[in-house]
Amino acid sequence: MKSHKNLLSKILLTAFWILIAACNSKITSQSEFESAKKRMVENQIKARSITDEDILNALYKVDRHLFVPDDQKRYAYQDRPLPIGERQTISQPFIVAFMTNVLKIKRNEKVLEIGTGSGYQAAILGELCDSVYTIEINKTLGERADSLLRKLNYKNIKVKIGDGYKGWKEFAPFDAIIVTCSPANIPLPLKEQLKEGGRMIIPVGDSFRQELVYIEKFKDKLFEKEILPVRFVPMIDSSGQRY
Ligand code: SAH
Repeated sequence: MKSHKNLLSKILLTAFWILIAACNSKITSQSEFESAKKRMVENQIKARSITDEDILNALYKVDRHLFVPDDQKRYAYQDRPLPIGERQTISQPFIVAFMTNVLKIKRNEKVLEIGTGSGYQAAILGELCDSVYTIEINKTLGERADSLLRKLNYKNIKVKIGDGYKGWKEFAPFDAIIVTCSPANIPLPLKEQLKEGGRMIIPVGDSFRQELVYIEKFKDKLFEKEILPVRFVPMIDSSGQRY
């Protein structure tokens, strides 16, 4: 009887310590994510001349590790793109910050994103403006991003599964358009759906070499400037052909 009691208390004690260890490792990894995120913002973003307080705060607030698959979480705060499934990637944090910074988004503005992917860029935009409309052609990714953004309570972000080449006429015109997949030429519907005084940032080129092009619209004319060589995944149509 005594030995049974001993065995039971040993089992209970072991279970207790396993529970404590599990809790601790969770807390440690959450706090590790927090400090990795702070280091990323300081060393990869702020140190590379992105100083807009609102953008830095958004990068502090949004947990990039929630937007990547489990086996990528430990790399979430390194400054590089990561695979998100469906042969697609979440953009490098510096590029997210850079493109957002170029657009000079104001609180009351309406922004269109083409290429929702993980939803991370949309969440950053959601922290900065009034409303975000984001289009993803891949159903699996679009639905996953939509449910994550809802779980994180982003009421100002609307996700659509569809071909972003065509823009989102129903909610046009937009103050800013950000394109995170690359066509060979700037889609005409996106040019048309840009508001007077609106800004667009888009990677244009072939599958090997692209330039980030910054566009402003004034008096129905577009002013374009190439600002940075980049490499994004291609913009495709519903049959998988590259635009
Ligand atoms: N902004 C994303 C990363 C985008 S990766 C993030 O923060 O995670 C580019 C995405 O563009 C991919 O998910 C790809 O499926 C999508 N895409 C490619 N062509 C598209 C199109 N015509 N319309 C909408 N999305 C498209």
